[in-house]
Amino acid sequence: MALRVAVVGSGPAGSSAAETLAKAGIETYLFERKLDNAKPCGGAIPLCMIAEFDLPAQIIDRRVRKMKMISPSNIEVNIGSTLKDDEYIGMCRREVLDGFLRNRASQLGATLINGTVHGVDIPHNTSGSYVLHYADHSDGSVEGVSKSLSVDLIIGADGANSRVAKAMDAGDYNYAIAFQERIRLPADKMAYYEELAEMYVGDDVSPDFYAWVFPKYDHVAVGTGTMQVNKLKIKQLQAGIRARASHRLAGGKIIKVEAHPIPEHPRPRRVVGRIALVGDAAGYVTKSSGEGIYFAAKSGRMCAETIVESSHSGTRIPTETDLKGYLNRWDRQYGMTYRVLDVLQRIFYRSDATREAFVEMCADRDVQKLTFDSYLYKTVVPANPLVQLKITAKTIGSLLRGNALAP
Ligand SMILES: Cc1cc2nc3c(=O)[nH]c(=O)nc-3n(C[C@H](O)[C@H](O)[C@H](O)COP(=O)(O)OP(=O)(O)OC[C@H]3O[C@@H](n4cnc5c(N)ncnc54)[C@H](O)[C@@H]3O)c2cc1C
Repeated sequence: MALRVAVVGSGPAGSSAAETLAKAGIETYLFERKLDNAKPCGGAIPLCMIAEFDLPAQIIDRRVRKMKMISPSNIEVNIGSTLKDDEYIGMCRREVLDGFLRNRASQLGATLINGTVHGVDIPHNTSGSYVLHYADHSDGSVEGVSKSLSVDLIIGADGANSRVAKAMDAGDYNYAIAFQERIRLPADKMAYYEELAEMYVGDDVSPDFYAWVFPKYDHVAVGTGTMQVNKLKIKQLQAGIRARASHRLAGGKIIKVEAHPIPEHPRPRRVVGRIALVGDAAGYVTKSSGEGIYFAAKSGRMCAETIVESSHSGTRIPTETDLKGYLNRWDRQYGMTYRVLDVLQRIFYRSDATREAFVEMCADRDVQKLTFDSYLYKTVVPANPLVQLKITAKTIGSLLRGNALAP
């Protein structure tokens, strides 16, 4: 028998999964409802993703080498002096990155279906087929033509509002809402953001996260995120970041407004039967930084690798236990990263006093190096014990000075 796999969603998670499956010669169907989708996103990716996913240079619109952290009282700390000449954060347009990854998966042999998956019939036994019901848009219409497809295994890579997660009863997660305005700036103002990104913290811009000005292709993205999912609150916070950055955004024109959920933690069940979730559908965005592109791509690839191995390159149908092997690998590799960033968010985004302490701490070169290294290379390289001790002492010192530990 030949294994048939459906991958629903062709963001970084889905296309990376489909690429790995197709390379192994597995019959792969990659569903995407909108082939020109521009996912609302800051588009920042770590350096290691470029090599690991073999991304061509033209995917990167800007190379950010400087970050500015701005405290509630507007103290600015510049970060980036520890970077080597060839190190940077890549800024990309999601329609370009997603289009590239999707086309590569398709060229390698995945069958790309321009369709919206509406429902999944779950088989009643361990070997029956799953049936996907979808609207096929290949005629160019939004409504599409109703079709169905039988497969042995499904990867749900359909993002934060995942239909596949609902169909498999994966359970819910808490989520934050990220709101973002794309603003085209006059040339002199844009020059300031040439290779600079800004992060603002404070109750006025977000009670539990940060707000940002990120440089994009020919404009900036100005946004904020919060777990307090309430339209009025989000509007107030966006007004807060616009006010704080007003002198740098003067004369700018809004060209797009967008909002999207960001998962706060993994879903209760990420594998049920022969369905596995990856990327945002699974809930793999980190706390503190709100990063999800790299983790989406890595989880898609890791899940697909597990399928290739356990199916002996597509000659046997993997079981639920086989698929759970992907979860074990994932949690082993990244569980600690998620836990550390969760703790950091709880400590430092708690009040304006803790945020002041956080920004003060970011001025330290050892802290900058450790932070950048773990972001750019996604390896938790333990600093030498003396540096670690120094960082811990500085963290506590900063928090105490800001009276931030007071209940
Ligand atoms: C405002 C904002 C800013 C962000 N900034 C950053 C950042 O700078 N860096 C970073 O690393 N992360 C950032 N993130 C997080 C990042 O965008 C996500 O973690 C990432 O997109 C997850 O990728 P994915 O492939 O899992 O899902 P998605 O990118 O959401 O892709 C899902 C795909 O599935 C398709 N789809 C959905 N439903 C169906 C269906 N029923 N049938 C067929 N197709 C379907 C969609 O069209 C889409 O193409 C940000 C998020 C937000 C909201």
